[in-house]
Amino acid sequence: MVADAGAKRVALITGASRGIGRSVAMRLAQSGRHVVLAARTVEALEGVKQEIESHGGLASVQAMDLSDSGSLQAGVEKIAADHGRLDIVVNNAGITKDNLALRMSDEDFLEVLRVNLLGAFIICRAAARPMMRQKFGRIVNIGSTSGVIGNAGQANYAAAKAGLIGMTKSLARELGAKGITANVVAPGFIETDMTANLPQEVKDRVLEAMALRRLGTPEDIAEAVAYISSDAAGFLTGQVLCVDGGLTMC
Ligand code: NAP
Repeated sequence: MVADAGAKRVALITGASRGIGRSVAMRLAQSGRHVVLAARTVEALEGVKQEIESHGGLASVQAMDLSDSGSLQAGVEKIAADHGRLDIVVNNAGITKDNLALRMSDEDFLEVLRVNLLGAFIICRAAARPMMRQKFGRIVNIGSTSGVIGNAGQANYAAAKAGLIGMTKSLARELGAKGITANVVAPGFIETDMTANLPQEVKDRVLEAMALRRLGTPEDIAEAVAYISSDAAGFLTGQVLCVDGGLTMC
């Protein structure tokens, strides 16, 4: 199937039940995408779907657990089959299991890699087939500035997010000739559940290091994803866009 500009683009967003993923889903729906909302908590996904539909958007819900690696390929294939296409994948779902490296268990290291890196890889691999058939695709992997400059207490998370960058650049090289782009959006500190429990002194230190002196919002990230996943961004691939208020400037 060859995608044409008039067709409704279908976008899979993982971790769409809250935080950044929810905002990305709302924003892509606003751009006219049919968004497939994936996460473990179906009830929360249904709430996001209703909100999108109340604004005239199109959404559907897909239960997905990224820690269950064996189920992901079939899950993505089902989405592509149900909709007859899959144009955009936003690998956003992610977890942290922070600890100083000296105290970090093998299990906590591997679990973060399993969800944040292996899960994203399996989804990219499964999505590549329909995208190749369409000769169009936009892969947007949500990294982190931790994966670019490291972060004390996050050896597992930073390793997973750095791995995501290498994986995405490799996919960009493998799939570019088929009209598929692959990029990383690397948020800095964004106000979501993930950062809600950070001690105030940590937040203050981060704010001090940021040119814009404010934490980001999920909407800040959603705007970047909306552009990178758009038809207009067809010459942008293999890039890491740090959306971080001027924290890293790299
Ligand atoms: P969040 O508020 O904690 O939301 C995480 C999302 O991932 C939820 O929708 C959650 O849904 C889903 N999720 C978690 N484990 C999952 C699993 N095993 N299977 C499927 N879905 C799962 O996180 P966030 O702050 O929005 O972060 C989103 C992404 O941005 C993550 O990749 C994170 O690493 C990255 N990021 C965030 C920040 C920040 O400051 N917030 C900074 C840099 C990068 P369920 O619980 O319903 O499954």
